[in-house]
Amino acid sequence: MAGGHRGWTAAEVAVECSGIKPALRAHDSAPCAPLLHSDGLLPLDGRGFHLRRRSGRCIRGGRLGIIPARKRASPLRVPAPNLAAPGPQSPPLTKRLLVLGSTGSIGTQTLDLVRTATEDAPLQVAGLAAASSWETVLEQVREHRPAMVSMADPAAAAELQRAVGEGVEVFSGEAGLLEMIARADFDVAIHGIVGAAGLRPSAAVLERGKTLGLANKESMVIAGELLFQLAERHGAEIVPVDSEHSAVFQCLRGERLDRVRRVHLTASGGPFRTRSLDEIRSATPEEALAHPNWDMGPRVTIGSATLMNKALEVIELHHLFRLPAEQIHVVVHAQSIVHSMVEFRDGSVMAQLGPPDMRGPIHYAIHHPDRGAADLEGFSFERFAQLTFEEPDLQRFPALGLGFRVIEDGGSAGAVLNAADEIAVEAFLERRITLAQLVEVSTAALDARPASEGSSSLDQLLSADGWARQFAREHIEGLCAEADTTKTT
Ligand code: MG
Repeated sequence: MAGGHRGWTAAEVAVECSGIKPALRAHDSAPCAPLLHSDGLLPLDGRGFHLRRRSGRCIRGGRLGIIPARKRASPLRVPAPNLAAPGPQSPPLTKRLLVLGSTGSIGTQTLDLVRTATEDAPLQVAGLAAASSWETVLEQVREHRPAMVSMADPAAAAELQRAVGEGVEVFSGEAGLLEMIARADFDVAIHGIVGAAGLRPSAAVLERGKTLGLANKESMVIAGELLFQLAERHGAEIVPVDSEHSAVFQCLRGERLDRVRRVHLTASGGPFRTRSLDEIRSATPEEALAHPNWDMGPRVTIGSATLMNKALEVIELHHLFRLPAEQIHVVVHAQSIVHSMVEFRDGSVMAQLGPPDMRGPIHYAIHHPDRGAADLEGFSFERFAQLTFEEPDLQRFPALGLGFRVIEDGGSAGAVLNAADEIAVEAFLERRITLAQLVEVSTAALDARPASEGSSSLDQLLSADGWARQFAREHIEGLCAEADTTKTT
Protein backbone atom coordinates (compact mmCIF):
# COMPACT_ATOMS: atom_id res chain seq x y z
CA MET A 1 0.00 0.00 0.00
CA ALA A 2 1.68 3.13 -1.14
CA GLY A 3 1.97 6.14 1.11
CA GLY A 4 1.79 4.33 4.42
CA HIS A 5 2.67 1.18 6.24
CA ARG A 6 0.64 -1.52 4.59
CA GLY A 7 0.57 -3.70 7.69
CA TRP A 8 1.59 -7.27 8.03
CA THR A 9 -1.62 -9.06 7.40
CA ALA A 10 -1.24 -9.94 3.73
CA ALA A 11 1.64 -12.26 4.25
CA GLU A 12 4.73 -12.56 6.27
CA VAL A 13 7.45 -14.94 5.58
CA ALA A 14 9.23 -16.90 8.22
CA VAL A 15 12.80 -17.42 7.39
CA GLU A 16 14.56 -20.14 9.24
CA CYS A 17 17.61 -18.11 9.71
CA SER A 18 20.35 -20.64 9.64
CA GLY A 19 22.35 -19.78 6.60
CA ILE A 20 19.89 -17.31 5.13
CA LYS A 21 19.69 -13.58 5.39
CA PRO A 22 17.42 -11.22 3.56
CA ALA A 23 18.88 -8.51 1.40
CA LEU A 24 18.62 -4.97 2.73
CA ARG A 25 15.07 -3.73 2.51
CA ALA A 26 15.58 -0.31 4.01
CA HIS A 27 14.40 1.38 0.88
CA ASP A 28 11.50 -0.81 0.28
CA SER A 29 8.50 1.24 -0.69
CA ALA A 30 9.13 3.09 2.58
CA PRO A 31 7.65 4.12 4.97
CA CYS A 32 6.47 0.55 4.75
CA ALA A 33 9.97 -0.83 5.18
CA PRO A 34 9.10 -2.32 8.53
CA LEU A 35 12.24 -4.19 9.37
CA LEU A 36 15.70 -3.37 8.29
CA HIS A 37 17.54 -6.47 7.17
CA SER A 38 15.96 -8.37 10.03
CA ASP A 39 17.06 -11.94 10.28
CA GLY A 40 13.64 -13.32 10.87
CA LEU A 41 10.81 -11.53 9.10
CA LEU A 42 10.41 -9.58 5.99
CA PRO A 43 7.35 -8.37 4.16
CA LEU A 44 6.02 -9.80 0.98
CA ASP A 45 4.88 -7.14 -1.38
CA GLY A 46 3.75 -7.26 -4.98
CA ARG A 47 7.33 -7.55 -6.13
CA GLY A 48 8.19 -10.61 -4.07
CA PHE A 49 11.27 -10.71 -1.96
CA HIS A 50 14.95 -11.44 -2.12
CA LEU A 51 16.81 -13.89 -0.01
CA ARG A 52 20.48 -14.29 -0.06
CA ARG A 53 22.18 -17.40 1.17
CA ARG A 54 25.48 -17.01 2.88
CA SER A 55 27.01 -18.67 -0.15
CA GLY A 56 26.07 -15.45 -1.96
CA ARG A 57 23.45 -17.11 -4.16
CA CYS A 58 20.32 -15.03 -4.41
CA ILE A 59 16.86 -16.55 -4.41
CA ARG A 60 14.12 -14.25 -5.57
CA GLY A 61 10.41 -14.31 -5.28
CA GLY A 62 10.28 -17.65 -3.53
CA ARG A 63 7.97 -18.54 -0.73
CA LEU A 64 9.13 -20.10 2.46
CA GLY A 65 5.76 -20.56 4.01
CA ILE A 66 3.12 -18.18 5.26
CA ILE A 67 2.77 -18.20 9.00
CA PRO A 68 -0.80 -18.41 10.25
CA ALA A 69 -1.83 -15.22 12.02
CA ARG A 70 -2.04 -16.79 15.45
CA LYS A 71 1.56 -18.01 15.27
CA ARG A 72 2.90 -14.89 13.70
CA ALA A 73 5.42 -12.92 15.70
CA SER A 74 4.54 -9.31 16.33
CA PRO A 75 6.24 -7.06 13.76
CA LEU A 76 7.24 -4.84 16.65
CA ARG A 77 9.37 -7.47 18.24
CA VAL A 78 12.98 -8.07 17.42
CA PRO A 79 12.93 -11.45 15.71
CA ALA A 80 13.94 -14.39 17.82
CA PRO A 81 17.05 -15.38 15.84
CA ASN A 82 18.89 -12.41 17.33
CA LEU A 83 18.54 -13.98 20.74
CA ALA A 84 18.64 -17.65 19.87
CA ALA A 85 21.42 -20.02 20.83
CA PRO A 86 23.71 -20.79 17.91
CA GLY A 87 22.72 -23.75 15.77
CA PRO A 88 25.09 -26.42 14.47
CA GLN A 89 28.34 -24.71 13.49
CA SER A 90 29.37 -24.70 9.87
CA PRO A 91 32.92 -23.67 9.01
CA PRO A 92 33.25 -19.89 8.57
CA LEU A 93 33.11 -18.78 4.96
CA THR A 94 35.88 -16.57 3.68
CA LYS A 95 34.51 -13.18 2.62
CA ARG A 96 36.05 -11.98 -0.62
CA LEU A 97 36.57 -8.24 -0.75
CA LEU A 98 36.91 -5.69 -3.46
CA VAL A 99 38.76 -2.71 -2.00
CA LEU A 100 38.00 0.44 -3.99
CA GLY A 101 40.39 3.24 -3.09
CA SER A 102 42.94 0.82 -1.61
CA THR A 103 45.68 3.38 -0.93
CA GLY A 104 43.38 5.86 0.84
CA SER A 105 42.37 6.03 4.48
CA ILE A 106 39.42 3.60 4.22
CA GLY A 107 41.32 1.25 1.87
CA THR A 108 44.40 0.89 4.07
CA GLN A 109 42.25 0.35 7.16
CA THR A 110 40.27 -2.33 5.29
CA LEU A 111 43.52 -4.09 4.38
CA ASP A 112 44.56 -3.84 8.02
CA LEU A 113 41.39 -5.78 8.92
CA VAL A 114 42.30 -8.41 6.31
CA ARG A 115 45.77 -8.66 7.83
CA THR A 116 44.40 -9.16 11.35
CA ALA A 117 41.34 -11.26 10.45
CA THR A 118 40.69 -14.20 12.74
CA GLU A 119 39.99 -17.80 11.73
CA ASP A 120 36.37 -17.24 12.78
CA ALA A 121 35.92 -14.46 10.26
CA PRO A 122 38.42 -14.97 7.45
CA LEU A 123 38.89 -12.36 4.73
CA GLN A 124 40.46 -12.45 1.32
CA VAL A 125 41.20 -9.68 -1.19
CA ALA A 126 39.64 -10.34 -4.60
CA GLY A 127 40.55 -7.01 -6.19
CA LEU A 128 42.07 -3.59 -5.52
CA ALA A 129 41.47 -0.22 -7.14
CA ALA A 130 43.50 2.96 -6.70
CA ALA A 131 44.26 6.20 -8.50
CA SER A 132 47.96 6.50 -9.31
CA SER A 133 50.21 5.32 -6.43
CA TRP A 134 51.27 2.14 -8.19
CA GLU A 135 54.27 1.45 -5.92
CA THR A 136 51.99 1.30 -2.88
CA VAL A 137 49.55 -0.89 -4.80
CA LEU A 138 52.42 -3.17 -5.79
CA GLU A 139 53.18 -3.76 -2.10
CA GLN A 140 49.50 -4.44 -1.47
CA VAL A 141 49.40 -6.92 -4.37
CA ARG A 142 52.45 -8.74 -3.04
CA GLU A 143 50.91 -9.01 0.41
CA HIS A 144 47.27 -9.79 -0.45
CA ARG A 145 47.55 -11.55 -3.85
CA PRO A 146 44.36 -10.26 -5.54
CA ALA A 147 43.48 -11.64 -8.98
CA MET A 148 42.65 -8.18 -10.34
CA VAL A 149 43.82 -4.61 -9.84
CA SER A 150 42.66 -1.36 -11.39
CA MET A 151 44.51 1.96 -11.63
CA ALA A 152 42.72 5.16 -12.66
CA ASP A 153 45.91 6.54 -14.18
CA PRO A 154 46.84 4.60 -17.39
CA ALA A 155 50.59 5.27 -16.98
CA ALA A 156 50.47 3.91 -13.42
CA ALA A 157 48.52 0.88 -14.69
CA ALA A 158 51.25 0.17 -17.24
CA GLU A 159 54.00 0.46 -14.60
CA LEU A 160 52.09 -1.83 -12.27
CA GLN A 161 51.45 -4.43 -14.98
CA ARG A 162 55.18 -4.50 -15.78
CA ALA A 163 56.01 -4.98 -12.08
CA VAL A 164 53.44 -7.68 -11.26
CA GLY A 165 53.82 -9.69 -14.47
CA GLU A 166 51.12 -11.86 -16.01
CA GLY A 167 49.69 -13.39 -12.84
CA VAL A 168 47.56 -10.37 -11.99
CA GLU A 169 45.11 -8.75 -14.36
CA VAL A 170 45.59 -4.96 -14.37
CA PHE A 171 42.80 -2.63 -15.57
CA SER A 172 43.14 1.04 -16.37
CA GLY A 173 40.96 4.16 -16.34
CA GLU A 174 37.32 4.43 -15.30
CA ALA A 175 36.18 1.95 -17.97
CA GLY A 176 38.77 -0.52 -16.67
CA LEU A 177 37.55 -0.13 -13.10
CA LEU A 178 33.95 -0.74 -14.14
CA GLU A 179 35.04 -3.82 -16.09
CA MET A 180 36.93 -5.14 -13.09
CA ILE A 181 33.85 -4.69 -10.88
CA ALA A 182 31.74 -6.46 -13.52
CA ARG A 183 34.08 -9.48 -13.63
CA ALA A 184 35.68 -9.81 -10.19
CA ASP A 185 34.76 -12.67 -7.88
CA PHE A 186 33.77 -10.92 -4.65
CA ASP A 187 31.14 -10.78 -1.90
CA VAL A 188 31.53 -7.26 -0.52
CA ALA A 189 32.99 -4.09 -2.04
CA ILE A 190 34.41 -1.62 0.47
CA HIS A 191 34.15 1.61 -1.43
CA GLY A 192 36.46 4.34 -0.15
CA ILE A 193 37.09 6.26 -3.37
CA VAL A 194 36.75 9.96 -2.58
CA GLY A 195 34.40 12.30 -4.40
CA ALA A 196 31.96 12.11 -7.29
CA ALA A 197 34.37 9.73 -9.06
CA GLY A 198 32.91 7.04 -6.80
CA LEU A 199 29.39 7.21 -8.21
CA ARG A 200 29.70 4.93 -11.25
CA PRO A 201 31.67 2.29 -9.30
CA SER A 202 28.85 2.28 -6.69
CA ALA A 203 26.30 1.64 -9.43
CA ALA A 204 28.50 -1.10 -10.93
CA VAL A 205 28.71 -2.98 -7.61
CA LEU A 206 24.94 -2.83 -7.16
CA GLU A 207 24.38 -4.04 -10.72
CA ARG A 208 26.31 -7.18 -9.74
CA GLY A 209 23.81 -7.78 -6.92
CA LYS A 210 26.60 -7.61 -4.32
CA THR A 211 27.00 -5.88 -0.98
CA LEU A 212 28.21 -2.31 -1.24
CA GLY A 213 30.02 -1.17 1.91
CA LEU A 214 29.72 2.51 1.20
CA ALA A 215 32.26 4.98 2.57
CA ASN A 216 31.95 7.12 -0.57
CA LYS A 217 29.22 9.34 0.87
CA GLU A 218 29.20 11.40 -2.32
CA SER A 219 27.40 8.52 -4.10
CA MET A 220 24.50 8.91 -1.67
CA VAL A 221 24.60 12.71 -1.71
CA ILE A 222 24.47 12.85 -5.51
CA ALA A 223 22.23 9.93 -6.39
CA GLY A 224 20.84 8.22 -3.26
CA GLU A 225 17.44 7.57 -4.76
CA LEU A 226 18.82 6.06 -7.95
CA LEU A 227 21.24 3.79 -6.11
CA PHE A 228 18.46 2.32 -3.98
CA GLN A 229 16.43 1.66 -7.11
CA LEU A 230 19.43 -0.20 -8.54
CA ALA A 231 19.91 -2.18 -5.33
CA GLU A 232 16.26 -3.17 -5.39
CA ARG A 233 16.37 -4.21 -9.03
CA HIS A 234 19.46 -6.37 -8.63
CA GLY A 235 18.91 -7.78 -5.13
CA ALA A 236 21.98 -5.94 -3.85
CA GLU A 237 22.47 -4.32 -0.47
CA ILE A 238 23.93 -1.02 0.64
CA VAL A 239 25.61 -0.98 4.02
CA PRO A 240 26.90 2.40 5.21
CA VAL A 241 30.53 2.63 6.30
CA ASP A 242 30.43 6.27 7.36
CA SER A 243 30.72 5.86 11.16
CA GLU A 244 27.58 7.85 12.00
CA HIS A 245 25.43 6.08 9.44
CA SER A 246 26.79 2.70 10.43
CA ALA A 247 25.72 3.58 13.99
CA VAL A 248 22.19 4.45 12.86
CA PHE A 249 22.07 1.29 10.73
CA GLN A 250 23.06 -0.80 13.74
CA CYS A 251 20.58 0.97 16.07
CA LEU A 252 17.78 0.28 13.58
CA ARG A 253 18.33 -3.46 13.37
CA GLY A 254 15.00 -5.14 13.89
CA GLU A 255 13.21 -1.80 14.30
CA ARG A 256 10.56 -0.09 12.20
CA LEU A 257 11.44 3.12 10.42
CA ASP A 258 7.99 4.55 11.09
CA ARG A 259 8.65 4.22 14.83
CA VAL A 260 11.60 6.65 14.69
CA ARG A 261 11.01 10.07 16.24
CA ARG A 262 14.34 11.50 15.13
CA VAL A 263 17.98 10.66 14.58
CA HIS A 264 20.76 12.48 16.42
CA LEU A 265 23.70 12.65 14.05
CA THR A 266 26.85 13.33 16.06
CA ALA A 267 29.59 15.71 14.92
CA SER A 268 32.97 16.08 16.61
CA GLY A 269 32.92 19.81 15.90
CA GLY A 270 36.36 19.50 14.30
CA PRO A 271 39.46 21.52 15.19
CA PHE A 272 37.56 24.83 15.37
CA ARG A 273 34.80 23.79 17.77
CA THR A 274 35.84 26.35 20.36
CA ARG A 275 37.34 28.99 18.01
CA SER A 276 35.80 32.38 17.33
CA LEU A 277 34.19 33.23 13.99
CA ASP A 278 37.17 35.41 13.00
CA GLU A 279 39.69 32.70 13.83
CA ILE A 280 37.72 30.19 11.75
CA ARG A 281 37.37 32.52 8.79
CA SER A 282 41.12 33.07 8.55
CA ALA A 283 42.32 29.54 9.46
CA THR A 284 45.17 28.00 7.45
CA PRO A 285 45.03 24.59 5.72
CA GLU A 286 47.41 23.21 8.36
CA GLU A 287 45.09 24.25 11.18
CA ALA A 288 42.06 22.88 9.33
CA LEU A 289 43.80 19.56 8.66
CA ALA A 290 44.58 18.96 12.34
CA HIS A 291 41.50 16.93 13.34
CA PRO A 292 41.41 16.19 17.07
CA ASN A 293 39.94 12.64 16.90
CA TRP A 294 39.78 11.06 13.46
CA ASP A 295 42.46 10.05 11.00
CA MET A 296 40.83 10.71 7.61
CA GLY A 297 41.59 11.90 4.11
CA PRO A 298 42.11 15.66 3.45
CA ARG A 299 38.70 16.36 1.91
CA VAL A 300 36.75 14.87 4.82
CA THR A 301 39.08 16.53 7.33
CA ILE A 302 38.58 19.99 5.81
CA GLY A 303 34.86 19.23 5.72
CA SER A 304 35.01 18.44 9.44
CA ALA A 305 36.56 21.85 10.11
CA THR A 306 33.73 23.71 8.32
CA LEU A 307 31.01 21.13 9.20
CA MET A 308 30.44 20.76 5.42
CA ASN A 309 31.18 17.08 5.95
CA LYS A 310 28.28 16.98 8.40
CA ALA A 311 26.08 18.75 5.85
CA LEU A 312 26.88 15.99 3.33
CA GLU A 313 26.18 13.40 6.04
CA VAL A 314 22.76 14.96 6.72
CA ILE A 315 21.93 14.41 3.04
CA GLU A 316 23.39 10.90 3.17
CA LEU A 317 21.24 10.10 6.22
CA HIS A 318 18.14 11.44 4.48
CA HIS A 319 18.68 9.11 1.51
CA LEU A 320 19.84 6.02 3.42
CA PHE A 321 16.85 5.92 5.76
CA ARG A 322 14.36 8.16 3.95
CA LEU A 323 14.30 10.56 6.86
CA PRO A 324 12.78 14.00 6.29
CA ALA A 325 14.87 17.01 7.34
CA GLU A 326 12.80 17.61 10.50
CA GLN A 327 13.71 14.16 11.84
CA ILE A 328 17.45 14.84 11.56
CA HIS A 329 19.14 16.57 14.48
CA VAL A 330 22.87 17.30 14.45
CA VAL A 331 24.53 17.29 17.86
CA VAL A 332 28.13 18.22 18.58
CA HIS A 333 29.85 15.50 20.60
CA ALA A 334 33.51 16.39 20.93
CA GLN A 335 34.80 12.98 22.01
CA SER A 336 33.54 11.04 18.92
CA ILE A 337 32.59 8.04 21.08
CA VAL A 338 28.83 8.06 20.50
CA HIS A 339 28.69 7.59 16.74
CA SER A 340 25.01 8.55 16.50
CA MET A 341 21.69 7.91 18.22
CA VAL A 342 18.18 6.95 17.20
CA GLU A 343 15.30 8.28 19.28
CA PHE A 344 12.08 6.30 18.97
CA ARG A 345 8.55 7.55 19.40
CA ASP A 346 8.36 6.01 22.88
CA GLY A 347 11.25 8.22 24.00
CA SER A 348 13.84 5.43 24.00
CA VAL A 349 17.22 6.46 22.64
CA MET A 350 19.53 3.84 21.14
CA ALA A 351 23.16 4.72 20.57
CA GLN A 352 26.17 2.93 19.16
CA LEU A 353 29.45 3.65 20.93
CA GLY A 354 33.09 2.89 20.30
CA PRO A 355 36.50 4.53 20.07
CA PRO A 356 36.94 6.66 16.93
CA ASP A 357 38.35 4.00 14.62
CA MET A 358 36.99 3.54 11.09
CA ARG A 359 37.92 -0.13 11.19
CA GLY A 360 34.82 -0.66 13.36
CA PRO A 361 32.23 0.38 10.77
CA ILE A 362 34.23 -1.23 7.95
CA HIS A 363 34.33 -4.50 9.87
CA TYR A 364 30.60 -4.32 10.55
CA ALA A 365 29.83 -3.67 6.87
CA ILE A 366 31.90 -6.68 5.83
CA HIS A 367 30.32 -9.14 8.26
CA HIS A 368 26.80 -7.82 8.76
CA PRO A 369 24.29 -9.12 9.72
CA ASP A 370 26.72 -11.26 11.68
CA ARG A 371 29.32 -9.80 14.01
CA GLY A 372 32.63 -11.29 13.01
CA ALA A 373 35.29 -11.50 15.70
CA ALA A 374 37.79 -8.63 15.75
CA ASP A 375 40.55 -7.38 17.95
CA LEU A 376 39.21 -3.80 18.00
CA GLU A 377 39.04 -1.80 21.22
CA GLY A 378 35.74 -1.64 23.10
CA PHE A 379 34.80 0.17 26.31
CA SER A 380 37.42 1.96 28.36
CA PHE A 381 36.95 4.26 31.36
CA GLU A 382 39.68 6.51 30.08
CA ARG A 383 37.93 7.24 26.79
CA PHE A 384 34.30 6.92 27.85
CA ALA A 385 34.35 8.72 31.20
CA GLN A 386 33.14 12.10 29.97
CA LEU A 387 30.75 12.31 27.08
CA THR A 388 29.45 15.79 26.29
CA PHE A 389 26.80 17.06 23.86
CA GLU A 390 26.04 20.55 22.58
CA GLU A 391 24.00 22.23 19.86
CA PRO A 392 25.96 23.20 16.74
CA ASP A 393 26.52 26.92 16.14
CA LEU A 394 25.20 27.77 12.68
CA GLN A 395 26.65 31.30 12.89
CA ARG A 396 30.20 29.99 13.09
CA PHE A 397 29.50 26.95 10.90
CA PRO A 398 27.07 28.08 8.18
CA ALA A 399 27.96 25.11 5.94
CA LEU A 400 25.84 22.83 8.11
CA GLY A 401 22.65 24.60 7.02
CA LEU A 402 23.40 23.74 3.39
CA GLY A 403 22.74 20.05 4.07
CA PHE A 404 19.17 20.77 5.16
CA ARG A 405 18.72 23.18 2.27
CA VAL A 406 19.71 20.47 -0.22
CA ILE A 407 17.10 18.08 1.20
CA GLU A 408 14.46 20.77 0.73
CA ASP A 409 15.68 21.68 -2.77
CA GLY A 410 15.95 18.06 -3.99
CA GLY A 411 16.76 17.17 -7.61
CA SER A 412 20.38 17.86 -8.49
CA ALA A 413 21.08 20.05 -5.44
CA GLY A 414 23.18 17.32 -3.76
CA ALA A 415 25.30 16.89 -6.90
CA VAL A 416 25.84 20.66 -7.10
CA LEU A 417 26.79 21.10 -3.43
CA ASN A 418 29.20 18.19 -3.52
CA ALA A 419 30.93 19.24 -6.75
CA ALA A 420 31.29 22.90 -5.74
CA ASP A 421 32.73 21.83 -2.39
CA GLU A 422 35.26 19.48 -4.02
CA ILE A 423 36.58 22.35 -6.14
CA ALA A 424 36.52 24.83 -3.26
CA VAL A 425 38.45 22.46 -0.96
CA GLU A 426 41.18 22.12 -3.61
CA ALA A 427 41.38 25.92 -3.91
CA PHE A 428 41.56 26.28 -0.11
CA LEU A 429 44.36 23.71 0.16
CA GLU A 430 46.22 25.63 -2.57
CA ARG A 431 45.71 28.80 -0.44
CA ARG A 432 43.78 30.51 -3.21
CA ILE A 433 40.69 31.13 -1.07
CA THR A 434 40.00 31.44 2.68
CA LEU A 435 38.00 29.00 4.76
CA ALA A 436 35.11 31.49 4.84
CA GLN A 437 35.14 31.73 1.03
CA LEU A 438 35.16 27.94 0.76
CA VAL A 439 31.60 27.81 2.09
CA GLU A 440 30.57 30.87 0.06
CA VAL A 441 31.52 29.08 -3.19
CA SER A 442 29.12 26.21 -2.45
CA THR A 443 26.34 28.57 -1.38
CA ALA A 444 26.75 30.59 -4.59
CA ALA A 445 26.60 27.40 -6.69
CA LEU A 446 23.34 26.34 -5.01
CA ASP A 447 21.90 29.84 -5.56
CA ALA A 448 22.80 29.78 -9.26
CA ARG A 449 21.78 26.15 -9.87
CA PRO A 450 19.54 25.74 -12.90
CA ALA A 451 16.16 24.30 -11.91
CA SER A 452 15.99 20.54 -12.36
CA GLU A 453 12.84 18.52 -12.78
CA GLY A 454 11.88 15.82 -10.29
CA SER A 455 13.89 12.63 -10.62
CA SER A 456 17.07 12.69 -12.63
CA SER A 457 19.10 10.00 -14.37
CA LEU A 458 22.71 9.24 -13.49
CA ASP A 459 23.85 11.14 -16.59
CA GLN A 460 21.74 14.19 -15.68
CA LEU A 461 23.15 14.21 -12.16
CA LEU A 462 26.69 13.92 -13.46
CA SER A 463 26.03 16.76 -15.87
CA ALA A 464 24.84 18.91 -12.92
CA ASP A 465 28.09 17.90 -11.22
CA GLY A 466 30.05 19.14 -14.27
CA TRP A 467 28.10 22.40 -14.33
CA ALA A 468 28.81 23.03 -10.63
CA ARG A 469 32.54 22.36 -11.04
CA GLN A 470 32.73 24.89 -13.85
CA PHE A 471 30.68 27.41 -11.88
CA ALA A 472 32.88 26.96 -8.80
CA ARG A 473 36.11 27.39 -10.79
CA GLU A 474 34.84 30.63 -12.35
CA HIS A 475 33.57 31.88 -9.01
CA ILE A 476 36.95 31.18 -7.40
CA GLU A 477 38.72 33.01 -10.26
CA GLY A 478 36.47 35.99 -9.50
CA LEU A 479 37.32 35.84 -5.77
CA CYS A 480 41.06 35.63 -6.52
CA ALA A 481 40.89 38.57 -8.96
CA GLU A 482 39.03 40.60 -6.31
CA ALA A 483 41.69 39.78 -3.71
CA ASP A 484 44.48 40.83 -6.13
CA THR A 485 42.75 44.15 -6.80
CA THR A 486 42.38 44.77 -3.06
CA LYS A 487 46.10 44.03 -2.52
CA THR A 488 47.30 46.40 -5.25
CA THR A 489 45.01 49.31 -4.30
MG1 MG B 1 31.30 10.44 9.20
